[in-house]
Amino acid sequence: MASMAHLQEEKLRLQEELLGLQVWENDELSHSLQLQGQVETLKAKLLEQAQEISRLRSELGGTDVEKHRDLLAAENERLRQEMKACEGELRELRRQQQQQAPCQDCAHLQENAELQERLSLLQQEAEETRAKLAELDLEVQQKTNRLAEVELRLKDSLAERAEEEERLSRRLRDSQETIASLKSQPQQIKYIIKTVEVESAKAKQALCESQSRNQYLQEQVGMQRQVLKEMEQQLQSSQKTVAQLRAQIVMYEAELERAHGQMLEEMQVMEEEKNRAIEEAFSRAQVEMKAVHENLAGVRTNLLTLQPALRTLTHDYNSLKRQVRDFPLLLQETLRSARAEISQAIEEVNTTNRELLRKYRRELQLRKKCHNELVRLKGNIRVFGRVRPITKEDGEGPEAANAVTFDDDDDAVLYLLHKGKQVSFELDKVFPPQASQEEVFQEVQALVTSCIDGYNVCIFAYGQTGAGKTYTMEGTPANPGINQRALQLLFSEVRGKAADWDYAISVSAAEIYNEALRDLLVKEPQEKLEIKLCPDGSGQLYVPGLTEFRVQSVEDINKVFEFGHVNRATECTNLNERSSRSHALLIITIRGLDRSTGLRTTGKLNLVDLAGSERVGRSGAEGSRLREAQHINKSLSALGDVIYALRSRQGHVPFRNSKLTYLLQDSLSGDSKTLMMVQVSPAEKNTSETLCSLKFAERVRSVELGPVSRKAELASWPSQEQLEGDSPGTAAPHGRGHVSPSPGQLSSRAASIRRKLQASGKLRPVPV
Ligand code: ADP
Ligand code: MG
Repeated sequence: MASMAHLQEEKLRLQEELLGLQVWENDELSHSLQLQGQVETLKAKLLEQAQEISRLRSELGGTDVEKHRDLLAAENERLRQEMKACEGELRELRRQQQQQAPCQDCAHLQENAELQERLSLLQQEAEETRAKLAELDLEVQQKTNRLAEVELRLKDSLAERAEEEERLSRRLRDSQETIASLKSQPQQIKYIIKTVEVESAKAKQALCESQSRNQYLQEQVGMQRQVLKEMEQQLQSSQKTVAQLRAQIVMYEAELERAHGQMLEEMQVMEEEKNRAIEEAFSRAQVEMKAVHENLAGVRTNLLTLQPALRTLTHDYNSLKRQVRDFPLLLQETLRSARAEISQAIEEVNTTNRELLRKYRRELQLRKKCHNELVRLKGNIRVFGRVRPITKEDGEGPEAANAVTFDDDDDAVLYLLHKGKQVSFELDKVFPPQASQEEVFQEVQALVTSCIDGYNVCIFAYGQTGAGKTYTMEGTPANPGINQRALQLLFSEVRGKAADWDYAISVSAAEIYNEALRDLLVKEPQEKLEIKLCPDGSGQLYVPGLTEFRVQSVEDINKVFEFGHVNRATECTNLNERSSRSHALLIITIRGLDRSTGLRTTGKLNLVDLAGSERVGRSGAEGSRLREAQHINKSLSALGDVIYALRSRQGHVPFRNSKLTYLLQDSLSGDSKTLMMVQVSPAEKNTSETLCSLKFAERVRSVELGPVSRKAELASWPSQEQLEGDSPGTAAPHGRGHVSPSPGQLSSRAASIRRKLQASGKLRPVPV
């Protein structure tokens, strides 16, 4: 019974349990229905969201913006191309303007420049707009990317939800199947109760799991809701951005519109400009064309006139061609005849030349003869006087007073105040103290140049020591004398004749001291030289060993002079600080060759600075000085004798009486020319010596005999002492001039002079 009760109890309990299970099953069912409803709403929401997303996408118009951007880009491209076309047109216009009349400051150019500026501004603006567009593009791109991301995330969560749903519905199906199987098998309840007893724990556990699962899913749904909310917010903000972007795009479009309008306007203006320029160019071209047409017409008329000229030219050319063809023959013939004529002419010229040369030689001889005759007639011995100025060596007071005066009208006369009496002297020429070296040289240069023609010339400076002999012959470096000037003149003359003549000029320098001849151009001048007859039998004299120095320039001469000076023997006496006690000779030889005739000439120029002519008694010399003075006196007397003999054309000339005259023999005889420059001091204290010198001069000059007197006997020259004793002026015939006397006159004059000389006891018989 108990067991029955127990079974009853058990049965009740099981029934209750079954009831509970049924309740639970119902609960579970309602819950699953609830879940299903939730899933449905979620699905509907998802669908809505997807739709919303696609709507948003279409609304956002990522594609619209892109389209708009594309449109803008196309518009831009079109504008760019238009701009390019405009530029091309502009270039073309410019080229046309350059080709046509170039107007540099024309208004078009300025306008053009402005337009270009504006164009570049527009281009810049377009460039900026393009940059902004690119920025917008970038932003849209970013937004699109973010949307895609959100979509992706949504898709993921949707997929997860679908899976969950699937799983839950599977479980629901299983539970329903279990309930159905439970319902269909009530007979096996005991067994099943047992099984349920076993399985209820498992079901409880599964229920718990489902509950926790449900919890988790609800959380997930909340999270999704949250995400959705965020996305909605994002969507709102991107909608805002899109609105802003749209506004910007509208603004840019307006700007672009404006730029385009400007561009169109400018293009319009440019078009007008272009048209105007074209019109101008056209009108200019028309004018030019007109001018060209006119030119063409002129050229045509020219051509018409040129045609006959061309015909004549062609004709001429043809005839010239013919002539050229015939020319070689003609030339050969002409050359033949010309050659013949030339050779004949040369022959004739040669004969004429020969004849002329013969005549020239004859003329030369004749000229020389005539010259000699002229010189002979004029007297080839001339006497000049030169008075030096008063110097400080003359001292002061009455002794240094001037004793010499001149004739204003006659340059050959001078007066000397001696012992209260005025004595007059007449020479060939007198140089007063103020006469310069040039003036003196002018008077002697004719003599110098005659050397070149082959004459021998002697120029002596005679006078007491200190009277200016060395000054006249040598001079000073600043004011050179006859020596230097003569050589310079010879050089220039020789240069002038260089076309026909070859000349060689050589120089020797010697001194005669105490009747001994010394070479001044050797290092050891003590060696005495001898004067000898030439061994060729010509009767010429020569000095073996005398140095002859070939000179080619003034520098050479200066060297010779310097060397000569060093060797010159000078002694100091109380007469003058620098008293020359020797005769100094500068011998210049000029040898010439006439290249055309072969004629040879030799001329000698002897320039002699004689030793002082003062008398020994006054100089107070003794011993060797006295000997020197005696030698000087002797040689000067001998010179006077020789000159006198020459001038009076005596048959015998005593050349051998002194070394000086012997050495100069060939330069004093024959057709040689001699000049005696008598130097005097004007000082009162020197009047005695001045008187002697002037007397000597006058005597030399006064003896003027014609050719008849050649045969006259030799008259000895008065000694220096005799000269002083003579009454002044007695022997001098007054009046100058060298008029050739007639033989009768000459013989009578010679006779009278001889009488005078005999009366004064100066004419001695010739020693035989
Ligand atoms: P000499 O040679 O006859 O002894 P110088 O030629 O030595 O005499 O002359 C003596 C001095 O007188 C020198 O100082 C010289 O310069 C001077 N003298 C000579 N003649 C002239 C002149 N014509 N003009 C200027 N000074 C002169
Ligand atoms: Mg002197």
